[in-house]
Amino acid sequence: MENCVFCKIIKGDIKSDKVYEDDDLVAFNDIGPQAPTHVLIVPKRHIPTIQDIDEGDRALIGKIYLVAKQLAKERGLDRTGYRVVANCLKDAGQAVFHIHFHLLGGRKLGWPPG
Ligand code: AMP
Ligand code: ZN
Repeated sequence: MENCVFCKIIKGDIKSDKVYEDDDLVAFNDIGPQAPTHVLIVPKRHIPTIQDIDEGDRALIGKIYLVAKQLAKERGLDRTGYRVVANCLKDAGQAVFHIHFHLLGGRKLGWPPG
């Protein structure tokens, strides 16, 4: 997608601090970290919102959690805890319309979220 910042990162047109990549996914540090660990796990295929996921995406979405688990473990968050969160549409404050899962950890996270 032409004007999508994450598609540009995936293509290499915009720099990112990549921490993981495979055929389907990329993960990079969030540019505005909200916690000591704040990684975005992003499918390479442009999917605008969670509402656009379909049956064919089951394996892809499952893999996101396996990557989150691996990245969390590498950072010692498997001991302390962490959060995986995806914002969908306006009320959740979705700002980038290419689905991404935030991996947040390294501090006590408040609940309920704001
Ligand atoms: P959301 O509100 O869930 O759509 O979150 C979008 C996230 O993308 C925010 O946490 C931003 O800080 C992050 N973000 C936006 N542009 C970039 C970028 N070029 N590199 C890394 N993270 C970005
Ligand atoms: Zn995109």
